Amino acid sequence: MTALESSPLRRALRAWYRPRREAYPWRRAGIDPYGVLVSEVMLQQTQAARAASAFEGFLRRFPDLSSLAAASRGDVIRAWAGLGYHRRAVALHEAARTIVRVHGGMVPREPRALQRLPGVGPYTAAAVAAIAFNRPVVAMDVNVRRVTSRVVLGREPEDGNDPQIAVAAGLLLDPRGPGTWNQAMMDLGREVCRPAPRCEVCPFERFCRFRGAGRPGRVTAARTQPPFEGSNRQVRGRIVAALRVRPSAGIAGLVVATGIDLGRVEVAAAGLVRDGIVERRGRSFRLAG
Ligand code: SF4
Repeated sequence: MTALESSPLRRALRAWYRPRREAYPWRRAGIDPYGVLVSEVMLQQTQAARAASAFEGFLRRFPDLSSLAAASRGDVIRAWAGLGYHRRAVALHEAARTIVRVHGGMVPREPRALQRLPGVGPYTAAAVAAIAFNRPVVAMDVNVRRVTSRVVLGREPEDGNDPQIAVAAGLLLDPRGPGTWNQAMMDLGREVCRPAPRCEVCPFERFCRFRGAGRPGRVTAARTQPPFEGSNRQVRGRIVAALRVRPSAGIAGLVVATGIDLGRVEVAAAGLVRDGIVERRGRSFRLAG
C-alpha cells in the first residue's frame, strides 16, 4: 500500500462498525474462545441471522467446552437443529474432544494449531485466532477478499491474483484490533461492498481505488437489474459467446460484439487469458484450443 494510507481507512471502518458490533450474540461481551469457535463453525454454511438463534440455544445446552466434549454425539446433533450440514456438528464435537485431550481444555490461540482441529480450515482458524485472541491475521472470506481488492487494488478480485490481495489485506489489517477489523470487513462486504456495491453509504468511499477508477457506474445499474447484469462475469460470458461464433477477434471486434466499453472488455479479456479460457495471439483473441 503506497499511495493509500491505511490509518484513515481503519478509522473510517472502526467508526462504521461501532454501532454494529453487538448485532450478533457471538460478539457480545463475555463470549469466550469456545463461543467464538462454535459461532465460526455455525457460520461456515449458515447465514448469520439463522445462526444467531441456534447459537444461543446451543450455548445454553453446552455452556462450555468440557460439557460439549462430554456430550453424546446424538445430543450434539440434536442441539444443532435448524442449522443443517450436520457433519459440522460432528466435527465440532470431535474438535471439543481433541481440545480437551490435546490442549488441556483450552482452545488453541494460533491458526496453525487451530487448523489441526476437526472441521477447522484456514479461514475458520484465522477467524478464531483473530476474534478470540486478537492474533494479527486476516480471515479471508469472499467478502474480505472483494472489499480489499476493490479498495486497495482498484479491481475485482477475480481480475488479479490472490497473493496480491492477501498482501493488501495484511497491510490494511488493524493491529489495534484484528478481531474487530475482521468482523467489520466481513460486515462491510456482506452489506455494502456487495457484488453490486453501495458506494454512497460506504465508509471507504473517499479512499477506494475501485470507486476512484469509475467502476461504480455499475452501482446505479445494479439497483435496477439483477446482480449478474453489469458484472465482470457478464462481460466475460459475452466475450466467450462472441468467440464461440468466430475463429478470433481483436479487442475492437470484441467491443462491437459484446456492446461493452473498451476498458471493461480489456480487463475481462485479460482475466480470461489468465484463466486459460481464451488465448491471445498478437492482437487477436480466440478460445483456448
Ligand atoms: S467505495 Fe464502493 S467499491 Fe469501494 S469499498 Fe466501498 S462499496 Fe466497495
